[in-house]
Amino acid sequence: MVATTLQALSGSFSGLSARLGHSSTAVPPVGHFSNSSLAAFEQLIADYLPLDQAQQVRRAYYYSEQAHYGQTRRSGEPYVSHPLAVASILARMHMDAQSLMAALLHDVIEDTGVNKEDIGAQFGEEVAELVDGVSKLTHVEFDSVELRQAENFQKMTLAMAKDIRVILVKLADRLHNMRTLGVLNREKVKRIAGETLDIYAPIAMRLGMNEVRMEFEDLGLKALYPMRARRLEAARKAASGNRKQLVDQIKDQLTQTLAREGLAATVIGREKHLFSIYSKMKAKRKSFSEVMDIFAFRLIVDSVDDCYRALGMVHSLYKPVPGEFKTTLLSLKPMATNLCTRF
Ligand code: MN
Repeated sequence: MVATTLQALSGSFSGLSARLGHSSTAVPPVGHFSNSSLAAFEQLIADYLPLDQAQQVRRAYYYSEQAHYGQTRRSGEPYVSHPLAVASILARMHMDAQSLMAALLHDVIEDTGVNKEDIGAQFGEEVAELVDGVSKLTHVEFDSVELRQAENFQKMTLAMAKDIRVILVKLADRLHNMRTLGVLNREKVKRIAGETLDIYAPIAMRLGMNEVRMEFEDLGLKALYPMRARRLEAARKAASGNRKQLVDQIKDQLTQTLAREGLAATVIGREKHLFSIYSKMKAKRKSFSEVMDIFAFRLIVDSVDDCYRALGMVHSLYKPVPGEFKTTLLSLKPMATNLCTRF
């Protein structure tokens, strides 16, 4: 199956092969790269993309594999494992076919002899624009290390991307790079991790991608301060062992009380991520045991009114700690309104 696809594709890639200096018959040997991740990716897209679109995405994969042929990552894996991982992150978010194709091709302009026109001819203008947009973002990042703190840079990044999908591909690219930082030299790690915390995490937050934001923050923390992160993780683990029962108990109590009051709400209890504990300790100069909010509960309700009622209810159950209650409900927030209370 894979072999026939490759055969069918090799013809249309002859231009690419010529440009890259291998003969058009030099189709990479089948199975030279972990087909398990490819198979997992194909499964992911088969679940939500129509067949013809899935086929296009698959074509982009083989194109990328051939374009990056012979290149490897530091881990020794074929380079295409990286764009494939990036596309898999986006497929898990059920992103559209163009975004996945752009993800698969995102390093092709930068790292191989292929140009924007080639991609346009093979996969259409839209995909070419996306890939070009991601490549340009890479340049911005490279040229402007000194603009780091720059909220400017954030704005620029968002503005530059005429298409929001460019940012999403870039975020997924960064996420995979952070997950595979491995052993780089200290300076490089510091630069990449710092940039991730200063620029990418806030963008993810602004886009409402909370899980991505938290992963950026924890990976950034681990890369910048490995020792501190390890100690913190151990402390949190020990604490959560003791308090798991307590969390369940509080969650039950909240759920029951909400139901009794006739409030439709979803209650989510979660462990705070490392970076938020770390930030708090730093900001308030507290030790781990003094930081109280290691767990958080989220109550999702339908209206602002319900939100206040729920807050009243929570406060009747648990007394707020003076000085530790704050609300952002009335300040403008694009993605969510929330009340924050600690007890
Ligand atoms: Mn990349």
